[in-house]
Amino acid sequence: MPDLQLYDPFATMQFSDEHCFLCGTTITTAQRTPVFGEWMQRNYNLQNKELLMLDKSITTFSQLTIPCCTSCNANHILPLEQEIETAAAGGYEAIKSLDPKKLFQWIGKMYYGSLVTELIREKDPLVMPENPVSENPQMLGRFKTFFQVLQSLRVPMVFSDFLPCSLFIVQADPTEDELPFEYQDELTTMAFSIKLGPVVIVCKLLDNGIIGNVLNRLYKLTEGQQLHPIQIAEFKARVFYAAYIFNVVPDYFVRPGKPDDEQLVLDTLIDDITNEVFNPWDQVAYAHMLEEMLKPWSIREKEILENPQQPLSFLTDDNGELKTINRFER
Ligand SMILES: [Zn+2]
Repeated sequence: MPDLQLYDPFATMQFSDEHCFLCGTTITTAQRTPVFGEWMQRNYNLQNKELLMLDKSITTFSQLTIPCCTSCNANHILPLEQEIETAAAGGYEAIKSLDPKKLFQWIGKMYYGSLVTELIREKDPLVMPENPVSENPQMLGRFKTFFQVLQSLRVPMVFSDFLPCSLFIVQADPTEDELPFEYQDELTTMAFSIKLGPVVIVCKLLDNGIIGNVLNRLYKLTEGQQLHPIQIAEFKARVFYAAYIFNVVPDYFVRPGKPDDEQLVLDTLIDDITNEVFNPWDQVAYAHMLEEMLKPWSIREKEILENPQQPLSFLTDDNGELKTINRFER
């Protein structure tokens, strides 16, 4: 019978190199798994590529590993990485046809891996972060909620009628696409994006698909299309900004079961009565986000807000239809 016991590392803040991040088993410091799958490091030549951590220290993709017991690694992490690797080799269609729950788990592992690394580092007396995550109860509460659903990686779990995230998959037009790989995540807003060859996956974790609904019309326009990288940057800005103003955290409840159950069933609730789901849209804040994403093209906020009512868009025209951009010229 499967082990349906959930693990809660947040109760005692059990973040150390001696505990499996996924099940809590005591392990040796040699038992680890890479945050970024080895296949990805190999395929996109990431081993020595540098990564900036929250505390501004520098690490590399190959150095970024988290404590993981042999069983979790062999039974849960490696098979998932294998499945994503195969899909990535098949390109856009193959990635789109993946079970969204698997993509959620895969992205969630990388996101949570960065978080775990931060929490372990904060325990080091030599590391004195300015704003330690471990002392921010609101953020810890959110991470704890997130880890509940991430455990679907290990514990057989059915999400009753929701996915604990919004997922977008878009593809780049090769004409001016020079980036084989790109990765971006924001710990506080739980926005994430990763580029595997021509395919870009953008995700907002822990919104139960709400942002997916809000951006559904735009997302549908991109389906089957090849977008110019500047259009993908704008798409990311829209998702990341929506994540930034997203204002609620879902609750997840394990449905009471029987002793011989083979899986957990999770229900969810979002309190949208006492809280607005989104904070008000702020054009200037959005322009900042877009400016940040458009950095490679040096497009500044002033240009973005030339028409203050309607920020600059490379994705849609005045009628809300998808623009075609093959080459970007200023
Ligand atoms: Zn484990």
